[in-house]
Amino acid sequence: VTQIDVPTLVRIKPGALDRLGIYLARQHEKKIALLHSEGLVPALLEQARYSLEHNGIEVVFPKEVPEASFELAAEIFGQLPAQCGAVVGLGGGKALDMAKYLATLARKRFYAVPTSLSHDGFASPQASLTVKGKRRSLPCRMADAIVVDTEVCLHAPPILWSSGVGDLVSKVSAVHDWKLAFHAQGTVINDFAALLSDATVSQFVSRPQNDLEGQKLLATALMLNGVAMEVAGTSRPASGSEHLISHALDLVSEHPRLHGLQVGVATYVVTHLQKQGHERVAHVLKESGFWKYIFQNPWKRSEWQAAIDLAPSIKPDFYTILAERDCRAEIMAFLESDPMLKACFRNE
Ligand SMILES: [Zn+2]
Repeated sequence: VTQIDVPTLVRIKPGALDRLGIYLARQHEKKIALLHSEGLVPALLEQARYSLEHNGIEVVFPKEVPEASFELAAEIFGQLPAQCGAVVGLGGGKALDMAKYLATLARKRFYAVPTSLSHDGFASPQASLTVKGKRRSLPCRMADAIVVDTEVCLHAPPILWSSGVGDLVSKVSAVHDWKLAFHAQGTVINDFAALLSDATVSQFVSRPQNDLEGQKLLATALMLNGVAMEVAGTSRPASGSEHLISHALDLVSEHPRLHGLQVGVATYVVTHLQKQGHERVAHVLKESGFWKYIFQNPWKRSEWQAAIDLAPSIKPDFYTILAERDCRAEIMAFLESDPMLKACFRNE
């Protein structure tokens, strides 16, 4: 039996942002730090602040977050007033990662209030921060509360929805890689976490539409996936070979794409190699409108070639299908023969 932390306050519904102050007041919060993304739609920040003020919550430390770095988190930690009971992260990935890490350093409660659903970071027990310029995943506390206004997410740029869908389907290949690692190296599997992770995709598969209900399903699925990581005590239920390829693309691409877009295409490729889950992934990507943003901004084939060469060495002790056999020729052949993938690359 494992002791885990799960968010105890979860609100995923239209209008949740207007009620943010009510939720915090019910948790007996009084003074808080509010970290928001640089470039956040000003009306959303005002909406949050209005709701907080009208419910007696004082924002004693407002901060705009321009980057997600360990150095900046440490600096903000030094400025954080002692009377803050909680840290609220509002906006996109950077603000949420910074708020989460700050709350962990300062041992404060953490409220995640994402305004879009571009990846599973809002509910994961890790923060993606740069340390001396290099991106790292740092262990963090889980969110104590998750507040997702589905109406707000629905009005976020649709490319962010597609990115979230891509990060969600990656659980199909990640869980399979985890099983391969168990058979090859005895990597410990937590069956409950694996099942939970798998179930998150299944719920979404039945209705991958970008509307209020779809945003709710996506937010719920991504959140449960974060919980699966917490249950397992590892990122294994959420991250496998498809994430290695995405990390490699971050290093070799001229213009890295959104995390979930890279991961989604890599999942489509990797599930084909794994000979499992591919149809399910293809269905979700097609029905959710995922490919549109890939086709609009095609890669050079050489970028993928380089990323695939690099991917297995990104995390040396992390066994996946890419370690099982040399998949490079197989992948390149698939990129050239599959109709969807063919459209992802520009002809040079
Ligand atoms: Zn991811």
